[in-house]
Amino acid sequence: MTAQWFIDASYFAVAVVFILGLKAMSSPVTARKGIVWAGLAMIVATLVTFATPGMQNFDLMILAIVLGGALAWWSGRVVRMTDMPQMVAIYNGMGGGAAAAIAALEFARGEVHGTVVTTLAVLGALIGSVAFSGSCIAFAKLQGIMKKAWRLPAQNVVNIVLALAALVLGGTIVAAGEVKGELIVAFFILALLLGAILTSPIGGADMPVVISLLNAFTGLAVGFEGYVLGNPALIVAGIVVGASGTLLTQLMAKAMNRPISNVLFTPISGAASGGGEAIEGSMKEFSALDAASVMRYASKVVIVPGYGMAVAGAQHKVWEMAQLLEEGGVEVAFAIHPVAGRMPGHMNVLLAEAGVPYDKIFDLEEINAEFPQADVALVIGANDVVNPVARTDKTSPIYGMPILNVDQAHNVIVVKRGKGAGYSGIENALFYKDNCRMLYGSAQQAIAEVITHIKALEA
Ligand code: NDP
Repeated sequence: MTAQWFIDASYFAVAVVFILGLKAMSSPVTARKGIVWAGLAMIVATLVTFATPGMQNFDLMILAIVLGGALAWWSGRVVRMTDMPQMVAIYNGMGGGAAAAIAALEFARGEVHGTVVTTLAVLGALIGSVAFSGSCIAFAKLQGIMKKAWRLPAQNVVNIVLALAALVLGGTIVAAGEVKGELIVAFFILALLLGAILTSPIGGADMPVVISLLNAFTGLAVGFEGYVLGNPALIVAGIVVGASGTLLTQLMAKAMNRPISNVLFTPISGAASGGGEAIEGSMKEFSALDAASVMRYASKVVIVPGYGMAVAGAQHKVWEMAQLLEEGGVEVAFAIHPVAGRMPGHMNVLLAEAGVPYDKIFDLEEINAEFPQADVALVIGANDVVNPVARTDKTSPIYGMPILNVDQAHNVIVVKRGKGAGYSGIENALFYKDNCRMLYGSAQQAIAEVITHIKALEA
């Protein structure tokens, strides 16, 4: 058994485990297992790399692994759930940056030969650089470091010119056959600029979709550079990330009813400033006692969590309340919109963390037909995902986005702090409907008060 045979067999096993891990991540029941499998496969792939014939600089490799591993461990432990999108953005940026750095080093060492390898190295460098600088901008925006969307006068023309210039330079590198220092430097500067300028005008609401797209780019770049290095584990991991990132981007864009071209080239803030019919009626306030009574004596309550529940960290209180209602004979279900919160699966993760059983959690397609039979739809910190104008007002910027039809329940109770708009910045017609009552307060505190009243009703 040669060393090369051992390395190839290990990479093959790693690739299989990556794919099985990803499959397991598709269900909340097996997701944790999937993450552990993929993580273990990554450790094996990294260790096997040390056995590669001709490998040098072990001390530097170990230093990088220790530093990177420690930083990732620490940041993973301290990050708040609501800050997860920017963490994903920066980690993803590092992947794209690493792929671009591999290409830069291989060019500098004069190790890139042949048209196919040079083309893939150039493409990987271009895509990786765009993913790196774009992800850094996405991180800065979501972290609040960069407060303004920064849009150039002829933004789309600038994007096209930059992309074409980077492609022409890349083509020149491939055609030249030999690598010229100045050409490579100019190429990387253009590619990095393209990522930053493409991402700068995109608003916060669209940012998770962009992060997912940049994630797919990173996967592609890593796959290409894997080919340049002749590393099968990198090729497979890159392709898997590229394919799953592309699918996720499509799913998110579909759930928001925004074509990806719109996300990239037509910021929602611009779209939202126009359109939308005037809403008639007034918002009617409800007390925690009223909310407790209506729900305690209901037959069926559907709870719809949104971003506000995540911010308030109210999931444990919400589940405590749901259990109290169930003990009193009320049927309780949780309805999750695919883009509720700020990242795909955000609400599923929070409810799972609070201990809500998976069989009580329903997707939009499963639950929408149930709202007309529900006595109460309890909306906790959700806004855009329950806005009926998406169904009714053709002039609204969110028209066509699939929503949870909570307005069809007999009673709707909305928990939020005040009259704040949703992420899209548009008014919610639900709050003005005759069957809707507003329970004002931060979600955790408001639900705690409801719990107190439900307990008092039981006593
Ligand atoms: P929204 O962002 O539409 O609304 C959240 C609401 O929560 C606000 O109206 C706010 O009102 C309320 N809120 C904030 N803090 C609290 C608190 N402490 N307690 C109670 N309420 C609070 O959230 P949704 O989940 O309905 O919608 C998600 C939005 O994000 C959609 O527009 C979606 O398209 C977008 N998006 C989501 C992605 C994803 O992957 N999940 C990806 C891209 C975009 P008030 O200030 O009055 O309290």
